Amino acid sequence: MQFDIITIFPEFFSGPLDHGVLRRAIKSGICSVATHDLRSFTHDRHRTVDDRPFGGGEGMVLKPEPIYDAVFSLGITPKATRNTTKETVVLLSAQGRPFTQAMAHELATTERVVFLCGRYEGVDERINDLLCDREISIGDYVLSGGELAAAVIIDSVVRLLPGVLGNPDSARFESFGADDTGNAHEPGAVPPSTHGSGGLLDYPHYTRPAEFHGVPIPEVLMGGNHDQIRRWRRQMALAKTLRNRPELLKGVALSAEDRRYLQTLSPEADLQG
Ligand code: SAM
Repeated sequence: MQFDIITIFPEFFSGPLDHGVLRRAIKSGICSVATHDLRSFTHDRHRTVDDRPFGGGEGMVLKPEPIYDAVFSLGITPKATRNTTKETVVLLSAQGRPFTQAMAHELATTERVVFLCGRYEGVDERINDLLCDREISIGDYVLSGGELAAAVIIDSVVRLLPGVLGNPDSARFESFGADDTGNAHEPGAVPPSTHGSGGLLDYPHYTRPAEFHGVPIPEVLMGGNHDQIRRWRRQMALAKTLRNRPELLKGVALSAEDRRYLQTLSPEADLQG
C-alpha cells in the first residue's frame, strides 16, 4: 500500500514514521510513504503557497494551483475520472467526517491514499470539490495543520495491513474491533471472543508483578479458568464502555447476559440498539 503526503512541512514525518510498527512495515515493504513538498509546485521567487481569502476575514488560504499540480504529478486524476476505491485523495479538515476504526479498515482495502495537509485557514474549497473523495477530521478540535492528522490515520491503517502485526488477532480483538460473528450472542451464552471487541472498548490488561504498590491483579486472572476469564473480560469491557463511551453500546450486539450485567451497573441505562 502506498501513502503520499502533500505538505509544506515534509520533514515533519521523519519522526512519526521512524518508530515501532510503522518503521517495520515500511522497512519490510508492506507499505511506502512519500512526502511531497508543496512549495516545489510553486512558480514564484518566494515559493508562495497561500493567499488572502476572497470576501475578507482572518488569515490566509492555501492556493489551489500548487496543490492541484502536486496531485497531478503523482499521476492522480480528478475524482470524477478516478477509481476511488483503489486510489483515494483525502483532505484533512476539521470540517470532515469523524475518523473511526471502521474508516481505518476501509482505507486499508485501498491501494493508495494521498493526503492533503491544510495549514492557515485551510485549503481553497475547489480542491476539495475537484480532487478529494474524502474529507476527514480526526476529532472535534482544531489543529494548526493536517500533518498530525495524516500521521494518526497512517498509523491506524498500517497496523491493519496483513503481515504488519505479529499476531493478526491483536487488531481484531481490541477497542472498536469488529464482532467475529456479526451476530448477537445466544441468550446467556459466553460471547465467542476472549476480548472486549464487537464494538466495545477493550478490557483492562495486567502484567507482572501480581501485586503493585499494594494493588493485586484481579483474582480471576490467576485461576486459569478460561471461561471465567472470558466472561470477566467481557464484563470489564462492557463496564468501561458504559463509563467512558456509553453511546457505543447502541451499536454493539449485546447478549442477554451482557444486558443483565449492564443493568446491574446502571439500571436506567438505555441499551436499545
Ligand atoms: N479554518 C479551519 C476551520 O475552522 O475548520 C481550521 C483550519 S486549521 C487551523 C489548518 C489545517 O489543519 C486544516 O486545513 C486541516 O488540514 C488541519 N486540521 C485542523 N483540525 C483538524 C482536524 N480536527 N482533523 C484533521 N485535520 C485538521
